[in-house]
Amino acid sequence: MLKNFQENLEKYADLIVEVGVNVTAGHTVVLQIATDQRQLAHLIVEKAYAKGAAEVQVQWSDEFVQKQFLSHAATDRLENVPAYRGTQVDYWLEKNASRISVVSSNPDALAGVDGQRVATNQAALGKALAKLRQATQSNQVSWTVVAAASPDWAKKVFPNLSTSEEQVDALWQEIFKTTRIDLVDPVTAWKKHDETLWAKANELNAEQFDALHYTAPGTDLIVGLPKNHRWEGAGSKNSRGEVFMANMPTEEVFTAPDLRRIDGVVSSTKPLSYAGTTLSGMKFTFKDGKVVDYSAEVGQDVLAKLLAIDEGAKSLGEVALVPDPSPISQSGITFYNTLFDENASNHLALGSAYAFSLEGGTEMSPEELTAHGLNRSHTHVDFMIGSNKMNVDGIKQDGSIVPIFRNGDWA
Ligand code: ZN
Ligand code: ZN
Repeated sequence: MLKNFQENLEKYADLIVEVGVNVTAGHTVVLQIATDQRQLAHLIVEKAYAKGAAEVQVQWSDEFVQKQFLSHAATDRLENVPAYRGTQVDYWLEKNASRISVVSSNPDALAGVDGQRVATNQAALGKALAKLRQATQSNQVSWTVVAAASPDWAKKVFPNLSTSEEQVDALWQEIFKTTRIDLVDPVTAWKKHDETLWAKANELNAEQFDALHYTAPGTDLIVGLPKNHRWEGAGSKNSRGEVFMANMPTEEVFTAPDLRRIDGVVSSTKPLSYAGTTLSGMKFTFKDGKVVDYSAEVGQDVLAKLLAIDEGAKSLGEVALVPDPSPISQSGITFYNTLFDENASNHLALGSAYAFSLEGGTEMSPEELTAHGLNRSHTHVDFMIGSNKMNVDGIKQDGSIVPIFRNGDWA
């Protein structure tokens, strides 16, 4: 076992509870976690109650059970999400429940399952849980996404290590490193990191670029930005003004594109784990904000189903800047997990935008957000486009050009 594992796992649970969703007296907490992460789950539950939580609900997930369901359940059960799931979401929102999602899944967990069945169920869940997505994407409630090492995921990331134990240890080590758990005081380290990212976001907010121009091998893309767009750093505030950290690790600053003004071609630079399979070598052509042509070296059919989810799935909802010298990128490791890979690379997201990416956006109706150029969809999937060969220019209202990225780093 990893040296200091127990101690680090405790520090990690503290970080998730204190910085991730910032639990204080009276809070309701929902923890979504896999059955093989029982030890971490127990620590999070214990620490959340110690901070005064009124209730901690654990939503256990199990990859084996999920794969059996998607492979064998009656079609009407894939298409129809039971009403109690919606009632449960209503209860969480009524209690302003903070949500902790611990991701640990095997990137290829659903390989071999009929893609149509997976897509059908994802679309049904997207609709049934739309309120939850909306509350999350407008930061109405606190939420955090963090990772835990599972044997199957670790095997995919470290195939050259000989035993499962070595693979899991190596992945935990990377998780602890990138979430700053290996430092003496991770909570303070996160506060400093948050300030650094916000300083960048505020610089970009002051510029109010009209568009971004991305160039790299296989990429020449112009992305319009809505008037009064807002770049965000790491830390966020919920509707009651409480701070939380939506992703740990995080190295990105991001905003929303104008869904009507995206033109050109863009190529992915890292594999993408989506719907239980791995896609790679994706290329998209955009015209007037919509994907008009696309291909993938691996996973073309899965990509087709993603783009077919709804109209919004064919446009973009997020543009994020991450310098190539970021620690996750420099590790040289492909994690096959968006939480890590997106924080190693400039990325875009197909699907819905975050309401807070627009000044006053969290007060707007979905229709108003669309009118301002923010994309709406039942999905949101990041894909990675950055490399040390990427340049990004900011185009001002008057047409003048300001270099933002040169060779993958801040200009
Ligand atoms: Zn992102
Ligand atoms: Zn995203």
